[in-house]
Amino acid sequence: MRVLFLGTAAYEGHPNVFCDCDNCRKVREAGPDNFRLTSAVLVNDDLLIDFGPNIMAGAQKTGSTLFNVRTLLITHSHSDHLYLPNFGYRMDRYNASYERLSPMSVLANSTVLSLISDSVYFDPDKTILLMAEAYKETVLNDYSVIPIPAVHKVKEGEQALLFLIKKKGKSFFYATDTGPLDEFSLKLIKSFLDSPLDLVAIDSTLGFMKEVTFPYHQTAEQVVSTVETMRKNGIMDDTTKIYAHHFSHYPNPTQGELERFYVRFGIAVAYDGLSLEI
Ligand SMILES: [Zn+2]
Ligand SMILES: [Zn+2]
Ligand SMILES: [Zn+2]
Repeated sequence: MRVLFLGTAAYEGHPNVFCDCDNCRKVREAGPDNFRLTSAVLVNDDLLIDFGPNIMAGAQKTGSTLFNVRTLLITHSHSDHLYLPNFGYRMDRYNASYERLSPMSVLANSTVLSLISDSVYFDPDKTILLMAEAYKETVLNDYSVIPIPAVHKVKEGEQALLFLIKKKGKSFFYATDTGPLDEFSLKLIKSFLDSPLDLVAIDSTLGFMKEVTFPYHQTAEQVVSTVETMRKNGIMDDTTKIYAHHFSHYPNPTQGELERFYVRFGIAVAYDGLSLEI
């Protein structure tokens, strides 16, 4: 399984182009290698996780084609994860290879599915909408996908999701946007695994924030304790690649500074363009 990070920022990007805080300034000084687009991940060349406003930029910058994407997993309806005009780029009038374009299965919660089907960009000939059910394993184009309920606040009645993805004995847990998961969820996640995870991308939005007013993401401290808990209960072991992911500019400095903090705990830091083979 190849995993390519197309973007690693929270909603407003890092740097936020309208912001002049210390972190945004430091990241601008460090240069474009430190810049982060909104979060999304491409698995092999045929499974995409999240569909935010920077999908086009992330794919172009990494020289990726999304032509072969047959499975799209959308975590929730926040605008950094769902940008409906992306569906338009696939449509007949904008896509010269429309005839050869495979239909794309979209697995998401009911709120996200309604937003897609109500939108002017919805093309029923090339889009298969599938309702994600918590802890229900679904096989999609050779991937086994298990939606896990996130601890996250979205629209009234909407359940944000994380995704556990398995293929050919390898496993990848995509775990943003969420606060720390409880013991019950962790136990259930473990029940879907034959061996510890190969890769996890974990919500690290709140970085070095001291006072948490929005408990639906994780601070760096919470990332460390979540990882500790997951190691203890066997979801992860020493071979698991662990990547901090989804960074807000407020409490997160440069890539280098983040790496210096997280490395002590065996945690790496995702960046735009990072490509991993598991
Ligand atoms: Zn987000
Ligand atoms: Zn800033
Ligand atoms: Zn969110």
